[in-house]
Amino acid sequence: MKTENTSSRKIKIGLDVDGVLADVIETWISYNNKIRTPIIKSEIVEWDFWKRSRIEQFNFFEELSNCWKNWEIIPPTESQLSLDIDEMSKIGSVDIVTAREKSTNHYVKNWLRSKNIHYSEYVQVPEGPEKANLDYDVFIDDSPINAKEIVGASKNIIIYNQPWNLRFNDPHAKRIDRLKDSIPLLKSIADHQN
Ligand SMILES: [Mg+2]
Repeated sequence: MKTENTSSRKIKIGLDVDGVLADVIETWISYNNKIRTPIIKSEIVEWDFWKRSRIEQFNFFEELSNCWKNWEIIPPTESQLSLDIDEMSKIGSVDIVTAREKSTNHYVKNWLRSKNIHYSEYVQVPEGPEKANLDYDVFIDDSPINAKEIVGASKNIIIYNQPWNLRFNDPHAKRIDRLKDSIPLLKSIADHQN
């Protein structure tokens, strides 16, 4: 651990990519709808929706990874991400914390660069719930599975609202519709931390 000389320490923010910054599900839906029963995003109201859609979990995640090979066409969730993240960086140190196959890191980094997204470190973990063990004061994530683990580890979670996480209910979790809505929440976390 780094020792701090000042009384106020910058908080550490772990920012997710898929479903928070990158709307990769839209790219996957385009692919899916060519080969299977069409799905629309608002219908994806469960994290493990692939089960109900009779899609093998392995296939779903492999297809999602394949979407990243065409990173140029993956849309951002919002148009102002870069500005919002720069604003977040004034409050804390923003790391990209993403659960994925290693082979896709290169594409993700290209995508982040193409969207002019600045961050301190890029941290990849194999499985989402492992994020809860990492040294962050607050995570911004769309996975209800990760959110549960993070709450369980007594860390702050800001859930980026997506149709697949709306059923997760925990009084300790904060929710945002837009990334910029995280700013006042992060300020409050920083104030309580110092
Ligand atoms: Mg995600």
